[in-house]
Amino acid sequence: MKKIVLFRGKDRSLERRHPWVFSGAIHHTEGNPDEGDWVSVVSAGGRQLGAGFYEAEGSIRVRMVWWGAEETTAEAAIRRHIGSALLLRKQLGLTGQQDITAYRAIFGEGDSLPGLVVDHYDGIWVVQAHTWGMYLHRQVIAQVLADHAGAAFKAAYGKSIDTLPAPWAARAEDDFLLGKTQGAAVVKEHALSYLVDIQEGQKTGFFLDQRDNRALVRQYAAGKRVLNTFSYTGGFSVCAAAGGAKLVHSVDSSKPAIQLLEQNMGLNGFAGDVYKSYKADVFDFLKQMSKEAYDLVILDPPAFAKHVKSRHNALMAYKRLNAMAMERMPADSLLFTFSCSQVVGRELFDNTVMAAAIESGRSVQVLHYLSQPPDHPVSIFHPEGMYLKGLALWVR
Ligand code: SAH
Repeated sequence: MKKIVLFRGKDRSLERRHPWVFSGAIHHTEGNPDEGDWVSVVSAGGRQLGAGFYEAEGSIRVRMVWWGAEETTAEAAIRRHIGSALLLRKQLGLTGQQDITAYRAIFGEGDSLPGLVVDHYDGIWVVQAHTWGMYLHRQVIAQVLADHAGAAFKAAYGKSIDTLPAPWAARAEDDFLLGKTQGAAVVKEHALSYLVDIQEGQKTGFFLDQRDNRALVRQYAAGKRVLNTFSYTGGFSVCAAAGGAKLVHSVDSSKPAIQLLEQNMGLNGFAGDVYKSYKADVFDFLKQMSKEAYDLVILDPPAFAKHVKSRHNALMAYKRLNAMAMERMPADSLLFTFSCSQVVGRELFDNTVMAAAIESGRSVQVLHYLSQPPDHPVSIFHPEGMYLKGLALWVR
């Protein structure tokens, strides 16, 4: 096996099972490892710490998929971890039921499979590789998923062009790996129906990480005038309508997202002019909207910061967005605000929203601290996996 030998002392974070080997930790390599190779990681003293996929460029050089001295193949490691991940989803009550037919089946580091995300949409599995090593194993991954799913398996679709590092994305293809389906999938989430366009939609097609938060909005929506910004295909809009909102207005800059949103509203029996959607930039929309028009507002922007370098600007954008909303909300209204930027931690996000409250001059109470659901588990050794932060706020 090709080897990555670490500097003395650089095995410490791996001893704590943090799964990333940074370039600065590597003393030398043996066997000329290439992008995507399955490599063994060894301490300065020659002790085998585990194995993972090699990345030839960038600051993270190995993402560990296997721990300990026992040698194994990438395929065997992947097979083992997929089994554990699917068992967990079963324990969570997400499999084999009628009311929820979509869930995250594999969540990277959180499921001991760094570089791999798999979302399940009613028998269709969307396989998303973030590393070349995982991409090279996409067929095996699809086959293992099919073996587990049995008769319920419809298809596995590989969708990695958007998530692989640029030079590798250029060589990748998005296509069905096993089986084939046509048109949008229809899934259920808490008994509400949604169309999911796995091929053309954003990410794997749907934002499964907001499932629990959408259910919470539903609980608060009765009688409210709701504004859902960054609505995508209307997850929160459908929930607000189902919760008895007086009106629901949705805003997104993507036309295909708005089109699916309107279909999703109809699919659940909500139609008519109290359910309106706007293809617009959210910042522009907030600027021109009349004051006190909505008493429940949802802000779920895309990750403003993908890297630490852009964190400062991202924080400014979060602050401005939240302040603009708060300034315009009536007394005693509800704000659900989120950030999915991994580089913006819980405390930083809370402080930024506090700064927005100060700027807007509003008195604000936190009702709920929100996060991602358990099918997006966080490895305790890799707290960076906790990426979705949200606050449900009462604005006085
Ligand atoms: N809340 C959604 C997910 C939001 S994803 C859900 O529950 O499904 C973020 C969305 O923001 C995407 O649909 C993207 O098209 C949209 N978007 C990004 N920048 C925007 C902007 N400046 N104005 C409006 N929409 C934007």
